Amino acid sequence: MTTVAAVIDFELQPELSELRDRVARFVQEVAIPAEPRDVSTHGTDDGLRAELQEEAKRWGVFGPQLSEELGGLGLDHRGTAVILEESGYSLLGPQALNCAAPDEGNMHMLDLIASPAQRERYLVPLADGQIRSSFSMTEPAPGAGSDPSMLRTSARRSGSGWSISGRKWFITGADGAAFTICMALAEGAGATMFLVDATDRVFPGGHAEVVFEDCEVGEDAVVGGVGEGFHYAQVRLAPARLTHCERWLGAARRAHDFALDYVSGREAFGQPLGELGMVQEKLARSLIDLETSRLLIWRCAWALDRGDSAKHESSVAKAYVAEAVNRVVDNAVQVCGATGVSGEGPLARLIDEVRPFRIYDGPTETHLWSIARRQLRARSALTAQAPAAS
Ligand SMILES: Cc1cc2nc3c(=O)[nH]c(=O)nc-3n(C[C@H](O)[C@H](O)[C@H](O)COP(=O)(O)OP(=O)(O)OC[C@H]3O[C@@H](n4cnc5c(N)ncnc54)[C@H](O)[C@@H]3O)c2cc1C
Repeated sequence: MTTVAAVIDFELQPELSELRDRVARFVQEVAIPAEPRDVSTHGTDDGLRAELQEEAKRWGVFGPQLSEELGGLGLDHRGTAVILEESGYSLLGPQALNCAAPDEGNMHMLDLIASPAQRERYLVPLADGQIRSSFSMTEPAPGAGSDPSMLRTSARRSGSGWSISGRKWFITGADGAAFTICMALAEGAGATMFLVDATDRVFPGGHAEVVFEDCEVGEDAVVGGVGEGFHYAQVRLAPARLTHCERWLGAARRAHDFALDYVSGREAFGQPLGELGMVQEKLARSLIDLETSRLLIWRCAWALDRGDSAKHESSVAKAYVAEAVNRVVDNAVQVCGATGVSGEGPLARLIDEVRPFRIYDGPTETHLWSIARRQLRARSALTAQAPAAS
């Protein structure tokens, strides 16, 4: 009789456990103590970020997801999932490790498709933390939002290069970024990604709105191929969605831990809050959300490590985790009473930070919509193949 062994194993290799523990210590000893200095409403101050990155290099935790050639730790998607969750325990952790959005997604995509010259000019300094980047896709109405096919920004042929015109908004990290990757409709060819230096564009009023006015770039600014923009956006999308899930899972765990401490120490009606059934239900539901999120993330990471596009797995993970981390942080706020919504502790900041995750990287509804449509298509294909009943 043959025995069929299922290869499902949640054990971490000793090197990865050691790295996870080191990142956890780094977050406790370096990132969290620096949080009171992270007060800018326009993203972390570049000086603080540089200081934390130097420290992360000293601790040997810098660039977990980057190849060793780029100065990183060379982890696969599963290893990255473990480490990015740990880094997300502080909002400064991913910045320190150089695995924060949008740089992390841009580095991943450039590593796969940038030309040697683009690698040297953009990827190498980005991977080292010397510069920051942004990704410019979303446009005001009637341009691209949930529906990327509504893209309006155009790229006309101009001399030996391209002239880009259009308006983008909600572009994370655009202020202070050395370059952006801009999605535009190239004349006669369709959606195309262009590398645009910061000096080539205009910021009307600071944060996150980017205007391209007859912005001239060379042919060498095209990322991948002309007309291949949406195809390469997919290369960026699934892993970038997943790393967002990973970091926010760490943040939600921080909120949950804070709530556990609060309800253990605070009494009401003659007992600790943690002894009250309705508080316990929230704690239990939050833990189930955290663990389910981790399992969906690990499954998607496993699919990516196998070389799958993981379109389905990343969509399921994104739709679930975005809602779950919001529930967990909201539960933590609720059981902590006024402390939950005050500046005492991390919760008020965290609730602000996790709420938009239900909107970016595809709003929850668009993921649910595509998950449902995929099921219906698969089911009808199956029934079409089934032999007719006699
Ligand atoms: C904090 C933050 C950071 C961001 N960073 C970036 C960035 O760096 N680069 C970038 O390009 N963009 C960025 N965005 C923009 C983000 O990608 C868009 O907000 C997102 O794609 C949705 O587009 P929209 O805001 O135009 O919403 P709309 O397209 O106007 O949709 C509004 C709402 O309609 C509903 N909806 C949409 N489609 C469906 C459907 N099929 N079924 C049912 N309901 C639906 C959803 O509830 C959705 O939230 C960021 C957004 C935020 C909030």
